[in-house]
Amino acid sequence: IPAVVAVDGPAAAGKTTTCLALAQRFGLSYLESGRTYRIIALEALRRRVSTSDRQEIVILCDDLIRESRDQDLLTSGRYGNEDLRSPAVNVAVSDVARIGEVRERVTHLVRLWAAGQERCIVEGRDIGTVVFPEALVKFYLSASAEVRARRRVDQERRGSYEDVLKDVIRRDEADMSRTVSPLVPADDAINIDTTSLTLKEVLGRMSSACAA
Ligand code: C5P
Repeated sequence: IPAVVAVDGPAAAGKTTTCLALAQRFGLSYLESGRTYRIIALEALRRRVSTSDRQEIVILCDDLIRESRDQDLLTSGRYGNEDLRSPAVNVAVSDVARIGEVRERVTHLVRLWAAGQERCIVEGRDIGTVVFPEALVKFYLSASAEVRARRRVDQERRGSYEDVLKDVIRRDEADMSRTVSPLVPADDAINIDTTSLTLKEVLGRMSSACAA
């Protein structure tokens, strides 16, 4: 069983930034599970598969897994952040992530990847609750929607604060209200509300929990 650090939380809560820092500090392999959901959403848009057509999306998902020979779908460098993080994908990905069969497939791919790592840190929405309930350390990062939107705008310099805030609130609602694997903190997760914390403070708390 691989030693896993699970990092969950709503959109733009600082998961990627903190995961990358912890990965470097503790020598962990890092995986961003949201990227896989984004790749599926992007390919649906490119191949003109409606994201509200469950069956077609599941077929697309299987096609992608076959085409990429399992692991590559997770780590493929074929997709640029520019495409994966477009407003259209931000919307489509919420539809894709609602489909239970898609979640099962992504969960399987993530577990397969982790089995090949010595120690890893994985970020997403359901890592500590569903994908790795036995994870060694679990974090749930959150912050007010306004603070998350502000940080995202400052970091990416793309889109207005109002538009980013709207998208953050919409994705919160989608993540928390879906019937399969809704976003909730795991019972044994360390909850960190980063609203009034600096990145350094957040990393300090996370590091001491990892080192313990
Ligand atoms: O983390 P990121 O914002 O890139 O994830 C994109 C989308 O994928 C999220 O809005 C969420 O709905 C979905 N997702 C998920 N489960 C995960 C990771 C991401 O449902 N483990």
